[in-house]
Amino acid sequence: MTSPDRSMEPAAGDDLVTAAGENLVTAAGDNLVLFDIDGTLLRTEGVGVKAMLRAFTELHGDLGFSFEGMEIAGALDGLLFARLMERHGLPAHDEAHARFQRAYRDELSRTLTPDRVRRMPGAAELAHRLAGLGAATGLLTGNYAETAMIKIRAAGIDPQPFPFGAFGTDGPSRRHLTPVAIGRARAHHGRGFDPGRVTIIGDTPLDIDCAKAHGCRAIGVATGPYPVERLRSAGADLAVADLSDTAMLERWILG
Ligand SMILES: [Mg+2]
Repeated sequence: MTSPDRSMEPAAGDDLVTAAGENLVTAAGDNLVLFDIDGTLLRTEGVGVKAMLRAFTELHGDLGFSFEGMEIAGALDGLLFARLMERHGLPAHDEAHARFQRAYRDELSRTLTPDRVRRMPGAAELAHRLAGLGAATGLLTGNYAETAMIKIRAAGIDPQPFPFGAFGTDGPSRRHLTPVAIGRARAHHGRGFDPGRVTIIGDTPLDIDCAKAHGCRAIGVATGPYPVERLRSAGADLAVADLSDTAMLERWILG
């Protein structure tokens, strides 16, 4: 055993490699890195929320829909839908949800022009670098799957490092999304991932909670509504102002 960092990993690891370069690639393949979208990869600066509210109004009339008093950062889109419908006494059954998702998707595609979405520093580059090194990379987001990809494309982010993910209809809370994402990573790559080699990157205490609840590592990034100190006190293993130091983050994640 030459590397104390790997003493907890399956014994096969050290036998597989003979050179430093191979070692990095082999070790990277053990890792799964899951990215949040809003406040982490990009920001839509209110366009996403407005598109949702317009979809409600389009379907049900102007009932004064708003998310006032609701914590929307880190929340699941499916849950926001249910809460708003409940607030206005509207039935939130599957068909109503499907209609809402279509209306929101159409509204978002129409209004989220590239000039209205901002890429967060280093985030897409980090995903690209990790995927290039052989790590499994994907999404863990409260967004619906379709609108997640609309946002990523509008931001001009290459969707290649995000071939799978867990989304806002995959469970009743963010904690439920972690095992879903790990399962989809396993299905996509044909190999399993130890929770200790799974890193979740997000901008809210909920992103950190959904990692720590399953024995995964959490990186908190302060490009959303929460400062570094708040993410650290929420239990982030690493909290950073942004993801621009991709070399340091790559070492931390794969090390
Ligand atoms: Mg977020």
